[in-house]
Amino acid sequence: MTTPDVRPSPGASRPEISIVVPAYNEAKVLPELLERLTRALEGNPDYEILVVDDGSTDGTLEFLRVAGERWPRLRYVSLSRNFGHQNALRAGMDVARGACVISIDADLQHPPELIPELIARWRAGVQVVLTLRSSQGVPWFKRQTATAFYQVLSWLTDRPPADGSADFRLLDRTVVDLLRGFPERSLFLRGLVPWVGFRQESVPYEPAARSAGTSKYSVRRMLSLAIHGITATSTRPLLLASVLGVLVSLFAVLFAGYAVYMRVVRGTAITGWASVIVFTGLLAGAQLFVTGIVGAYLGQVLQEVQRRPPYLVKERSGEGLS
Ligand code: UDP
Ligand code: MG
Repeated sequence: MTTPDVRPSPGASRPEISIVVPAYNEAKVLPELLERLTRALEGNPDYEILVVDDGSTDGTLEFLRVAGERWPRLRYVSLSRNFGHQNALRAGMDVARGACVISIDADLQHPPELIPELIARWRAGVQVVLTLRSSQGVPWFKRQTATAFYQVLSWLTDRPPADGSADFRLLDRTVVDLLRGFPERSLFLRGLVPWVGFRQESVPYEPAARSAGTSKYSVRRMLSLAIHGITATSTRPLLLASVLGVLVSLFAVLFAGYAVYMRVVRGTAITGWASVIVFTGLLAGAQLFVTGIVGAYLGQVLQEVQRRPPYLVKERSGEGLS
């Protein structure tokens, strides 16, 4: 496939390649990022770099307003507040016009130098080019939690994302349009991309350290991404209540038999303060845990039913962003 499926919208010419960069308080790294992106894209006549300012408070937007003079391929949208990484990505996918869309983090942990390889694969006909980060150089805690999360996901779904896949990937316009057409409000892209199918390949890379600034993912945010990821990808945890119920009933039946045996054959009643307390405690814990799981799904359902937009735009760069 050479230039696949480009449908120019009236009045706006489509660039061939869109780079989408979600940025939350990344003013310090953006100049270097734009510089390296521009270098990596040399030789591609037709591309745009679309930075999504996700409600930054550190001057990211002020920088973007003037940076177009130095980097003419730069466009931006600015969201009305911080909507979170996934929603910022979605905003970027909505506004990007390219025949392929490459998403990349602002902090240079995703090396822009990998982009020519992604584009080469796309030109060879691959519609989804993923990247896989090798775990070397990733901080211990981040690596362990990420691996655990992907392990859980692979139990829960038949098409799990690969460990080490992040939001650094190329999607063909066909796939972008399909994903944008999904009715759900909260897209968990890492789970959905393996699910959509088409021709997919992955390219490995070594992650770099964050070039400046700090990670925007606190433990709380990581946990909430994980919960969202699971509830959006699989309904299997909802079966846990039934599984636990069967196990507990089985245990209760066996224990009842034992109690009857002791009373009838041995003539002794079992004294059992400890066993009663332990057993009730275990049951209460299991019930609350399962209720929590149901609650997580219920929350997700409520959000979907409310149908609020996943982000609001307050400002965008002038020309051409229709
Ligand atoms: N990001 C965002 N909105 C948020 C949090 C993060 O747009 O609410 C962006 C951030 O600017 C970066 C990318 O998402 O470009 C990944 O975030 P970060 O590097 O902090 O995550 P980590 O690499 O630590 O997982
Ligand atoms: Mg990062």
